[in-house]
Amino acid sequence: MSRATDIVVIGGGAIGGAVAYYAARKGLHVTLIDQPKRGRATSASAGGLWSLGESVGLGCGVIFHKAQLDAGTAIPGNGPAQLPPAFLDFAMQSNAMFPQLAQELRDDVGIDIELERTSLLFLIFDEGDEAFARTLWKDCPCGRQLIDWLTPEEVAASEPALTRELRGALRFNGDDQVNPYKLADALRAGAIHHGAKLLSHTEVVGIEVFEGRVQAVQTSTDRLPCSIVINAAGAWAGQVGRMAGLDVPVYPVRGQIVGTQTLPHLTTACISTSDCYLAQKHHGEVIIGSTTEHVGFDVGVTTSAIQTLCAGAIRAVPALADVDIKRVWSGLRPGSPDELPILGPVDGLRGYLNAAGLFRTGIVNAPLTGLVVADVAAGDPVSHPIEPFLMARFQNGTQTVVDEATSMRQHGMASAK
Ligand SMILES: Cc1cc2nc3c(=O)[nH]c(=O)nc-3n(C[C@H](O)[C@H](O)[C@H](O)COP(=O)(O)OP(=O)(O)OC[C@H]3O[C@@H](n4cnc5c(N)ncnc54)[C@H](O)[C@@H]3O)c2cc1C
Repeated sequence: MSRATDIVVIGGGAIGGAVAYYAARKGLHVTLIDQPKRGRATSASAGGLWSLGESVGLGCGVIFHKAQLDAGTAIPGNGPAQLPPAFLDFAMQSNAMFPQLAQELRDDVGIDIELERTSLLFLIFDEGDEAFARTLWKDCPCGRQLIDWLTPEEVAASEPALTRELRGALRFNGDDQVNPYKLADALRAGAIHHGAKLLSHTEVVGIEVFEGRVQAVQTSTDRLPCSIVINAAGAWAGQVGRMAGLDVPVYPVRGQIVGTQTLPHLTTACISTSDCYLAQKHHGEVIIGSTTEHVGFDVGVTTSAIQTLCAGAIRAVPALADVDIKRVWSGLRPGSPDELPILGPVDGLRGYLNAAGLFRTGIVNAPLTGLVVADVAAGDPVSHPIEPFLMARFQNGTQTVVDEATSMRQHGMASAK
């Protein structure tokens, strides 16, 4: 692909930033367009790089299942979703990219993304937790070498701030963390450093398609001709897809979250329980997350959710009972029907790529998503297989491209001739 090719990336969160960064590093001409919407996920996130934990259903998976049990809506035997090996491979490779990426971003733009090499502990309080932990211990697709079963004494020795009311813990080694705000800032700055143009506070309102090919992107003020458009619009990816006449099955999944005052060092590992997860960030704030709610684009914060999260956090780390809550917020995860990302090209529409549906793992999966989507955009060999993540899986191989004329009418655009 020649340097004259114009790539427009829609959405400047961790995913759009990573795509723009890797595409610009390849020498492609990139314009990154972002309209910061309320509830955008990256700045709401905990920054966990829990490639193992999230693949086996910890984090929000456990919490969501517990909520379903409490509400009596859980399907028997349908515990937290264990994602397929293809996802685990993808997430593990993406996680492994962080040390080098952190170094490159520090060198390129002087931003430290605060990568902490640590682990994720799943705390075992009761019989139910133990049965769940035992299944993971036996069946984890990553194999035993990356998981340790800790006795109560070993937990107390490694994390003295944790409650003593534990039967033990599972430790997922290599499940690290970063500062998600700094990651997104650094990726955007890195993209600019490598020649990308950023149009911030700019909304994409239409995508112009002619004869099965993307022609241009329409913002609220301008028309930008381009050869490739990349949909990295997070929870809004469905809306952006419709601008191109596509049915991209991405919807918002709200997560509420709590941040404490900055505290002296309390925990080293990130913590997951069946009530909440905790991650003490580099600057001392303890992040307590998070709910998994299907409430559309509502970015409210509810007293009951915050109360439940805080109670879960205090149960795990009793010293948190007396600390100040500094802030509460919510964000919209880009959910997909099978919880897997939606990446790459679609049948029937040339010049369009998805970088969407990263649900609860868009931080850990940002580097590899950025790289593989940039590979496709550049026409390079793809650094990791993306077949399991193509949108075609939802249509049994046939892509839904709604009538082009209808799409353009809907979005008030003239057909390019
Ligand atoms: C509470 C919570 C905790 C989380 N914790 C973790 C975690 O610990 N680890 C992890 O890996 N993941 C976590 N996630 C998930 C992760 O945050 C997301 O998967 C990831 O941020 C998605 O990134 P994105 O760039 O696709 O979306 P976003 O960050 O939402 O970015 C999309 C951007 O596109 C913009 N946009 C939308 N439409 C348009 C348009 N028409 N024109 C221009 N711009 C547009 C939006 O305003 C936004 O800025 C968490 C999410 C939540 C909500």
